[in-house]
Amino acid sequence: MSALEKPLTVDLHCHLERDEDIPLLAELTAPDLDVLAITNHTNKRAIILEQSRRIEQLASLRPDLLLLYGLEWNVLGNHVNVIFPARTVEESYISGFLDGFEPCDEFEQLSAALEYLADFPAGKPMLILNHPAHYDPVKFPLLADALAKPGIPLSIGVDGFHGHQNWVQKYEDPFDYPGSAPNGLCDLFYQRGIMVPLLAGSDFHPNKQDEKPDYAPGTYQRILLSGAAKDPVQILAALRQGRTAVDQNLTIDRIAVECERQFDDYVNININYTGFRMVQKLELIVGTGTAVEVKGLKEDLQPGSQTVEFSLDIPGITYVRVRGKSSGPCCVEGDKNRIAAFISSAVFCSDK
Ligand SMILES: [Zn+2]
Ligand SMILES: [Zn+2]
Repeated sequence: MSALEKPLTVDLHCHLERDEDIPLLAELTAPDLDVLAITNHTNKRAIILEQSRRIEQLASLRPDLLLLYGLEWNVLGNHVNVIFPARTVEESYISGFLDGFEPCDEFEQLSAALEYLADFPAGKPMLILNHPAHYDPVKFPLLADALAKPGIPLSIGVDGFHGHQNWVQKYEDPFDYPGSAPNGLCDLFYQRGIMVPLLAGSDFHPNKQDEKPDYAPGTYQRILLSGAAKDPVQILAALRQGRTAVDQNLTIDRIAVECERQFDDYVNININYTGFRMVQKLELIVGTGTAVEVKGLKEDLQPGSQTVEFSLDIPGITYVRVRGKSSGPCCVEGDKNRIAAFISSAVFCSDK
């Protein structure tokens, strides 16, 4: 594997609200995490205005870690992360954003906010739909339409797993999480032909570790991002191409899916896996224009490196994504039988 082929490990959701938490976050963030975004809440203006300074201090303690500037923004009742292709952001730019668009409660205001973000000097930021608690069949398509507005091509990512991994018991089976479940939020975009990367953040709050201990960035779930060097602009460009997988404690190194159309609805699928635990349940999600189909695959994936190849004949097939899970012992202390999973972003089927 060349340096560019080895995926970066990334977390795009983490809070840092106080000076005294900077050494703690530096210490608890996994030593092998490559990229971390700091994303404080936009309704906490005083904290946002200190964020660039705190990121610089964290960078001096962890020079190995590429830090990105981000926001957790209130949009139409949802939390949407904004990730900038930069480590720090000018105070005047951020103040202008907060003055105009926090909170953002109307579709018209959202359009103006997207235009403001698209003008960020170092390049276009990306948006992430955070932690949907349940799938809303009325609101989510409207939100998807509003965020994917033609002419303002800010890219969009969807959480494949919930953050706050230790706090939330609701989705004991990670396959049920509405961001990535079949017909969930990500399929809404894929069915419209829009590429979204699947993401997974820690939503770590170093200031809350006494009352609600949680997994620090990089220690439980991570994004694997292919095709980027450790550079803010390259990382956002690679996210836009959608070639991510999210990994929950399976310590996978790589999951790559190819889908090539042979003729009409007949496609060849190729799954390439490298990981350190056995995957006991492997599924393919197959998307057509209007629906998704879940196909259980017979193969277990053994630890190590392997390729699974097969063909499918499904009318109207446009994309595939793959997910796997394991219920073996978990490496996190005190969490012995927790199910762990991975999910890849979709690939659209290419014509031969
Ligand atoms: Zn949130
Ligand atoms: Zn958060």
